[in-house]
Amino acid sequence: MKLFPAFLKLQNRPVLVVGGGSIAASKIPSLLEAGANVTVVAPELDDQLLQQARQNEFTWLAKTFSLDDLDNKFLVIAATSLREVNAAVFEEAERRQILCNAVDDIDHCHFYYGAIVQRGDLQIAISTNGKSPALAQRLRKELEQQFGPEYAAWLDHLGATREQLRAQSSDPESTKKKLRHLASREMFDRFLSKGSGGSLDPSVRVPLTPFSRGGAVDTNNLAGKVFFIGAGPGDPDLLTQKAARLLQSASIVLHDSLVSAEILALIPATAQRVDVGKRAGLRLLTQSEINSLLVDAARKHQIVVRLKGGDPLLFGRAAEEIDAVRAANIDFEIVPGISAAFAAAATAQVSLTDRRLASRVLFTTYSRSVDARGFNGVPVAPDTTVVVYMPGPDYSEVSRWLADAGLAPETPVLVVSKATHADQSTQAATIATLPAQKPLPAPAILIVGRVASHSSVADTAVSWFDNQSAGSLEKISIL
Ligand code: SAH
Repeated sequence: MKLFPAFLKLQNRPVLVVGGGSIAASKIPSLLEAGANVTVVAPELDDQLLQQARQNEFTWLAKTFSLDDLDNKFLVIAATSLREVNAAVFEEAERRQILCNAVDDIDHCHFYYGAIVQRGDLQIAISTNGKSPALAQRLRKELEQQFGPEYAAWLDHLGATREQLRAQSSDPESTKKKLRHLASREMFDRFLSKGSGGSLDPSVRVPLTPFSRGGAVDTNNLAGKVFFIGAGPGDPDLLTQKAARLLQSASIVLHDSLVSAEILALIPATAQRVDVGKRAGLRLLTQSEINSLLVDAARKHQIVVRLKGGDPLLFGRAAEEIDAVRAANIDFEIVPGISAAFAAAATAQVSLTDRRLASRVLFTTYSRSVDARGFNGVPVAPDTTVVVYMPGPDYSEVSRWLADAGLAPETPVLVVSKATHADQSTQAATIATLPAQKPLPAPAILIVGRVASHSSVADTAVSWFDNQSAGSLEKISIL
């Protein structure tokens, strides 16, 4: 039997609930919220219901159910713990053609309570036709993740804007088009980025005009927003949910060469894509050219994603780009990502800190400049884990640089290449033996310090994905 899906208007309708325990208590709130005129018939009420009865939220008839309780009712919920009472309620309701729900007794129901995701006026109801309430609950939870509480405010806003547009416009077709655009994911992200708190002010939150096709705007004061997003180390599963969501709604993505192909594949075909790590003609783009591109993009597009490998705020020149965007008075937000240091530690299976070995971590990048020799003269304490980003292809240089920092030649070093990529690999060495190691493919990073001797996967190429799914490590020697 197929069910007819409907949302009932219960405002001021007389509804009977039979039963006064926890089952009834769970069924009453949604009736009250819908404005129903609820009567509860039960010899006794549990504490919670008693309190509600005292506050006149419903009428309480302190007695057992009798058939005439159904007089003039529109709908009835049989919510006692006695099956035969619930069945009797149903039979009488059936005779009188009143809609009945007997809790947990599908044979005595004209309708079911669906699993509901409720976000203000947005209601998503799920039915499995009684076959699997467990599946309905799981779907509800998933939908709750997908449609957060912010949808309530957004829907209010959409409603108000709809009224406004309909009152103003004489062209129903163009109004429809605008309303469709306003309901888009892109506009939702824009609404969120403007903040959903405060009073409802459509003109501030969502520019209604002048939008042209593709969401591009043509005036400066409607400039878009720049999102500096960390793409993480490579595995798309390690993107944050926010990063993945914003990528989906981006109108333009400016990315570095470091961002993995799998992540670039998530960018929708409708979004413009610019590889700012790529050579422009014969030379690389300068930082100031990238800054200008970013500002330009924000003047033409609503959602500008500046996608950087790892975390955007670590060795990513974000400071200069943020300054440029700020100077141009463009709105921006930063979405953190998993930095290579953490990905490499996970790949190598070492803890960056260890109560027994290392109490601090130093993130640094190998610098060839003479000034940076020996970490500017500051010696590195032996209980420090040093993570070296961009170690360069010549390990003898970086080895000398680490030794100049006062680290002992026998200090363990792990080279981790392409952490979290399918073809990741790791190599164990010491500062003394590092120059003799065959360099691993870029991008690679060094974990230097006592903790580095505790890797269980050094000198292997361990597939990140095998590692993730099977738990057992498939070891393929790369040496
Ligand atoms: N913002 C980035 C770092 C950019 S600097 C972050 O937070 O990770 C670029 C350097 O990061 C590379 O030279 C390399 O040292 C390191 N790196 C980035 N991704 C890596 C990966 N998947 N595996 C190993 N090292 C990586």
